Amino acid sequence: MSQDAVLLWFRQDLRLADNPALYVARQTNGLVIPVYIDDLKAAAEWQAGSADRVWLHGSLSSLQQDLRSLQSELILRQGPTLHKLIELARETGARHIHCNARYEPWAIRQEQALQQALADQGIELVCHRGASLLWEPGTIQTGDRKPYQVFTPFFKKCLQSPPELDVIPRPKTLKAPAQWPKSLAVEELNLLPRLHWHRDMQAFWQPGEAQAQRLLNEFIQTKQDAYSDARNIPSIDGTSRLSPYLSHGEISPRQIWQAVAEDGRRSGTSFLREIVWREFAYHVLYHFPHTTDQALKAKFNQLPWTMRQDWFERWIQGQTGYPVVDAGMRQLWRIGWMHNRVRMIVGSFLTKDLLIGWQDGARWFWDTLLDADLAQNSLNWQWVAGCGADAQPFFRIFNPVTQGQKFDPDGRYVRQWVPELAQMPAKYIHAPWTAPDSVLRQAGIQLGNTYPEPMVDHGTARNQALKIYKQLPVSI
Ligand SMILES: Cc1cc2nc3c(=O)[nH]c(=O)nc-3n(C[C@H](O)[C@H](O)[C@H](O)COP(=O)(O)OP(=O)(O)OC[C@H]3O[C@@H](n4cnc5c(N)ncnc54)[C@H](O)[C@@H]3O)c2cc1C
Repeated sequence: MSQDAVLLWFRQDLRLADNPALYVARQTNGLVIPVYIDDLKAAAEWQAGSADRVWLHGSLSSLQQDLRSLQSELILRQGPTLHKLIELARETGARHIHCNARYEPWAIRQEQALQQALADQGIELVCHRGASLLWEPGTIQTGDRKPYQVFTPFFKKCLQSPPELDVIPRPKTLKAPAQWPKSLAVEELNLLPRLHWHRDMQAFWQPGEAQAQRLLNEFIQTKQDAYSDARNIPSIDGTSRLSPYLSHGEISPRQIWQAVAEDGRRSGTSFLREIVWREFAYHVLYHFPHTTDQALKAKFNQLPWTMRQDWFERWIQGQTGYPVVDAGMRQLWRIGWMHNRVRMIVGSFLTKDLLIGWQDGARWFWDTLLDADLAQNSLNWQWVAGCGADAQPFFRIFNPVTQGQKFDPDGRYVRQWVPELAQMPAKYIHAPWTAPDSVLRQAGIQLGNTYPEPMVDHGTARNQALKIYKQLPVSI
């Protein structure tokens, strides 16, 4: 193959529009060979979880179709990234590989190692910025040049340095070689599970760049004005549901920011604030890479979390006896996504009512979320547990009953995901054990049989959590 072929290495940027690496690869005027490598070992203990791989299957198929519409291809390989990149560079004669930067600690290490090892083979790896974040980590700092650990001043600083809104359009052509290198079929990557637990997920979601754009437009046109209130009500489809698309790079934050800014309505601000939360999570992970496993605030590493496997099982199966917690955990299992308000409630329940470590909750989310994202997951679990950047204070413990009553007052969300409670009147749906026997009978519920009794008493669990918290040293 010609010497002027360049490899375009897709990673977490599975899109054609606003893709800086693709843009530069095309500028070289050579043949562009798009490549995706499924490397099961690259991320070590943070390799993609089971749900993430289900999404990836759909996402790669979609990207392949999109590339084919440009008379191009997506070359799929499986194995160690370095080995596969060298193999492909040799097969195609490519001397340059373009990719977009990632910001997880393992990915930063990977990039550095690859750049060195490829240079030894006479191959240049060029990592482009601006694909997945609006502000490069390190560019938003406090007055005394320290990383922010609190969101609001970070947000204000971001607004003082607005992102450059120069979204790169989708290319109309890509120069293809006369003969393509060999590729695996998407199915041969074995991304889908052998036991078919993913059917509901696949029915609910449609991965791919085109769908991400549709959801963004739909959000701006029909949901944005009500977003600031609707985003807290789990029974309403009031949020964008863009998270799995963002976490796989099927849409860029810049595309979102530009579309909302061009629309111009003030209601866009609360949505963009969430996009900046996403940036903040990456910023914290970049500056404090240990926060994937350890508390940002060191004293919280001393909390005596205890893994009680039987309790953990009840939590993951949605059998805690607290309806809103159970609804959330079952929503997660069925569709690989959970409403943000309920993520906070189930996280608080695990860490403060059951005193099971946030790291165990984060691991379960990592395996079951379609939008699993190391930065968002670590920051948010630490927020919930009260031990991270800008966390809610540890002593603020969500009451799963009052949270349910406030954010799911008519019980619609619970009824959808916990069908055995479907006939329960709204008055009792978040605390079935308080219902008179006659009401339970009429609703067809036998507590402890058709639906569990609460696995712990929230009041007692709360006092226990507070007692443990008070024993921590005041500051470390
Ligand atoms: C315990 C816990 C774990 C979480 N784990 C993840 C995760 O692994 N991956 C993930 O993408 N999100 C995670 N979140 C954040 C949030 O729940 C999801 O981003 C949101 O529910 C996605 O739905 P949406 O796209 O409809 O959000 P929208 O409300 O439409 O928000 C738009 C985008 O803003 C960003 N965003 C929204 N809320 C947050 C937030 N609290 N923190 C950071 N960014 C946010 C997301 O990128 C989201 O897609 C977690 C939250 C909690 C409490």
